[in-house]
Amino acid sequence: MERNLTCIVCPMGCSLKVALDGGEVKSVSGNTCPRGEVYARTECTNPMRTVTSTVRCSDGTVVAVKTDKPIPKEKVFDCMKAINNANPDLPIKIGCVIIDEIYGAKVIATQNAE
Ligand code: SF4
Repeated sequence: MERNLTCIVCPMGCSLKVALDGGEVKSVSGNTCPRGEVYARTECTNPMRTVTSTVRCSDGTVVAVKTDKPIPKEKVFDCMKAINNANPDLPIKIGCVIIDEIYGAKVIATQNAE
């Protein structure tokens, strides 16, 4: 079986072809650099995503946040729910930890708010 992917690691967006045999990656082609092969292998076996969102602070201010590393794609919805339930107090600085641990990542602020 063959799977076609677009590499999302950088803006070049290379078109990747992945040869699969029963869920096992046999080969990757179309990548311009090694990161594309790593992306294709991960995407076909354990897809991961960095979550970007916003959190509503205790005074109603909305602050942009993201996970500091990718989490399993199937956990993105749970992560969004946890972000929606967080209610941090101001002030918040870029890099402040909003959620300490969620699926191996932290949720951090990506903007300042006072
Ligand atoms: S394969 Fe390499 S050059 Fe192509 S989109 Fe992915 S990271 Fe960018």
